[in-house]
Amino acid sequence: MGKPMGTAILAHELGHVCQGYRLLPIDAAYMQYGLEGQADYFAGRLLAASGFPQAALENHVLPILAQAQGDSTHAPGPIRVMLTKAGYYWHP
Ligand SMILES: [Zn+2]
Repeated sequence: MGKPMGTAILAHELGHVCQGYRLLPIDAAYMQYGLEGQADYFAGRLLAASGFPQAALENHVLPILAQAQGDSTHAPGPIRVMLTKAGYYWHP
């Protein structure tokens, strides 16, 4: 899967850790896609904050994520891409 995707998956999973400790608000707009959607948004935010290169996101992570099949908890790939990008390109 490669290091960029591995890093992005870890960022997503850290989102679940933060959810577990109630460090993330549950009333944000992205929660319409559930806890998994929030974790995708969080991953984007964390990747940007930690200096993860934009090229690695755009060229390695998002094309893989875009192919993800949706299931009962995970949104389809294009929505997951949108959530991850919304987090990554968020500006205060
Ligand atoms: Zn997840």
